[in-house]
Amino acid sequence: MRLNFSIGDMTVHRIVEMESPFLPAFEMLPGLTQEVLDANRDWLQPHSLGPGDVFSLCYQSYIVRTPHHTILVDSCLGNDKQRGRPEWHLKTDDTYMRALAAAGLTVEDIDYVMCTHLHDDHVGWNTRLVNGEWVPTFPNARYVFSERELATAQAANERSPYAGYTDSLLPILRAGRTEIVGDDYQLGDHVRILPTPGHTDGHVSFGFGKKRDEVVMTGDLIHVPLQMRYPELSFARDKDPVLAATTRRSFLERYCDTPTLCCTAHFPTLSAGRISRWGAGYRLQSFD
Ligand SMILES: [Zn+2]
Repeated sequence: MRLNFSIGDMTVHRIVEMESPFLPAFEMLPGLTQEVLDANRDWLQPHSLGPGDVFSLCYQSYIVRTPHHTILVDSCLGNDKQRGRPEWHLKTDDTYMRALAAAGLTVEDIDYVMCTHLHDDHVGWNTRLVNGEWVPTFPNARYVFSERELATAQAANERSPYAGYTDSLLPILRAGRTEIVGDDYQLGDHVRILPTPGHTDGHVSFGFGKKRDEVVMTGDLIHVPLQMRYPELSFARDKDPVLAATTRRSFLERYCDTPTLCCTAHFPTLSAGRISRWGAGYRLQSFD
């Protein structure tokens, strides 16, 4: 699938950092049955479902260039960070920065970084390590965090300090670069928050487009393509799996069979497409 595409008066770039096996299917989706997995195996393999029935995830940012701003949504994993998963831990590759350069962009070009939520795989490139100090990666950017989401992260860090808070959030807060926003946040005519709680309490998606949602960024309201067809299957780590399922279905229904382009955070190919109906559920269809 293409890495750059134009829609309306905007350009969207995919900045892919990594694609890797994540969790066995039944561990990831506790409501999944063998029968459903077997019935969908053909279309899930090889991109989404790998050997041993392990789901793969892609880690990617999207950059939207509106006529007024250049906005990066979700900053993936980052480098040099202490993390629990081996493939995330202290990595030092240049894939992300090369992808940014391939899009014709530099870190200075980003006006806003918007995070759908504040888990480690969505805030990593908020900062980078320079001379032993964590500094904002995007020196000219304002960082947009949901107020509810930030309160949750702060409370979690007070209970039990964690590296992701210290290395990817605190330096941004200390640098005074945050815009802490509510569910009514908008930026001009082109950008708005779509509250999508469930995966986390303060999880938000973003809508882009002049006065209407021509492109939407799901964040983690959905993790794997099988959840398109069966929106009731929630991820084991959704904070509120029942709410996550309701949010997922209502979001997919809202954009189903419309021209709106849906960009997912974690789907491997196909990561972005149009939503169409498939039985009692939905599917993502290529827009090329
Ligand atoms: Zn995620």
